[in-house]
Amino acid sequence: MYEFNGKVAIVTGAGSGIGRSVAQLYAQNGAKVVVSDVNDEGGAETVRLIEDAGGEAAYFHADVSNPSDCEALVQFALNRYGRLDFACNNAGIGGESNPTGNYSIEGWNKVININLNGVFYCMRYEIPAMLQNGGGSIVNIASILGQVSFANAPAYVAAKHGVVGLTRNAAVEYAKSNIRVNSIGPAFIKTPLLSVLESDENLMNMIIALHPIGRLGQPEEVAELVMWLSSDKASFVTGSYYAVDGGYLAQ
Ligand code: NAP
Repeated sequence: MYEFNGKVAIVTGAGSGIGRSVAQLYAQNGAKVVVSDVNDEGGAETVRLIEDAGGEAAYFHADVSNPSDCEALVQFALNRYGRLDFACNNAGIGGESNPTGNYSIEGWNKVININLNGVFYCMRYEIPAMLQNGGGSIVNIASILGQVSFANAPAYVAAKHGVVGLTRNAAVEYAKSNIRVNSIGPAFIKTPLLSVLESDENLMNMIIALHPIGRLGQPEEVAELVMWLSSDKASFVTGSYYAVDGGYLAQ
């Protein structure tokens, strides 16, 4: 358990998967959580799960590829809870599956807009809000594909490499202002993002075999690291990239 009483967190893409687990764990540890998503039903369900467990949360609809939505999201956190301490910029999509020479321009722009620009837009407004209360901690959800390639996913790989670089840059800029910024690289985690693969047993077995640990990860296994990175226990950790990958990158 961490001592997050009095702290306020924003989680994007919190209506599902990893983001939902992160929101639940922030709340379990005492933070007030702004649950944000474009999936209003999923977001409402996350708030319900948090409240049923005795935590405090509020939902705000924000499309992270829209800068004014990101500005409004941060403003909502300030209006509702008066401060911002933690942000987990997690919203993301997989995008189409095609090699670079066949990838659609629209598909490229969509993935870059959500997975990379969205992280920038969120940090653009989260950082000034955190400076107002003397600091904070930002955790950006990248991927193992922020470090290595994956055929037929050029936009996703480029966006996630970008998130790792953007994280390092912001970390250096705000290290003396008491804002720590880190990124996490999950390997394949069992969430609705992977549902497209579930119908193909052979493909799923091939993906599982890419992980030395012999299984997919669970959202909670990513969320636990978000908690540690957010907490004062990680007070000397900034600009870092941490894999949560069952050994994927170690091969
Ligand atoms: P998920 O279960 O699909 O959840 C993502 C949530 O983000 C969904 O509720 C989705 O809404 C929402 N979203 C989509 N576009 C958005 C936008 N423009 N603005 C705000 N919210 C938006 O996915 P997940 O697996 O938890 O993934 C979370 C993050 O982890 C992503 O950044 C992903 O790239 C990263 N990641 C995942 C894995 C994995 O294997 N699962 C591995 C490495 C990294 P809709 O349901 O309406 O689309």
